[in-house]
Amino acid sequence: MAGFLFDNMVFGPVFSRRLGVSLGINLLPIDNKYCNFNCIYCECGWTNNKKGKMILAKRDELKQQLEAKLKEVQGTVNEPDAITFAGNGEPTIHPQFAEIIDDTIELRDKYAPKAAVSILSNATMLSKPKVAEALKKVDKNIQKLDSGIESTYKAINQALSNKSLDSIVEGLLGFEGKLIIQTLFLRGEYEGKIVDNTTNEEVEAWLEIVKKVKPEYVMLYPIERGTPAENIEKISKQELQKIAEKVEAAGIRAEVY
Ligand code: SF4
Repeated sequence: MAGFLFDNMVFGPVFSRRLGVSLGINLLPIDNKYCNFNCIYCECGWTNNKKGKMILAKRDELKQQLEAKLKEVQGTVNEPDAITFAGNGEPTIHPQFAEIIDDTIELRDKYAPKAAVSILSNATMLSKPKVAEALKKVDKNIQKLDSGIESTYKAINQALSNKSLDSIVEGLLGFEGKLIIQTLFLRGEYEGKIVDNTTNEEVEAWLEIVKKVKPEYVMLYPIERGTPAENIEKISKQELQKIAEKVEAAGIRAEVY
């Protein structure tokens, strides 16, 4: 499966299940996924970081494109509810991520004051103070946590460095609750091993971390499109709702998509 790639720096607006009318920003290459994870469910396909050939979004060009798009949709039905950093990989990898967040907030305030500046991130770069500070400025700081068990985290997210689950959790704790947790639930088989973050043991371990992190709320969702790993099963809405009830019982809002 080749995977789906966004072919521009600014894309949409598209309707997002989680964010409403969302204007997307892709800081990564338009012809290749660039990420420090290699999630078995990634809609962009397998990670293949061709070092040296990666062309990232240029700050000035991006600012111009975003301003032009925001002017175009201002006052129309396409005025965004969210300006969302997502795209072909992990946005916080971009070396000017912090500066680009500042540019985006400036443009949002000028042209689309109701839009929530949002980011979908994998929480791997939180040990970098500049990245963490930038993330504290966004309205919807959505960070990935797919398991509370190290071996499952490794099996699902396949970090390309030796990033441990503990270090990810430490970064999440640094937001002191000003974040949203996103978790993709799945079960299946990959490289001859069962991968399943929906068992009682898994959900309990994950929930313990969620309780410590105290996010504004938790987004629970299943796979929606094709996955690079075969034999991955889509979890039903009913099953996700049962997990959501456990989150709610712990006093934390949960949304199922
Ligand atoms: S973190 Fe996101 S972009 Fe990176 S591999 Fe996982 S799903 Fe894909």
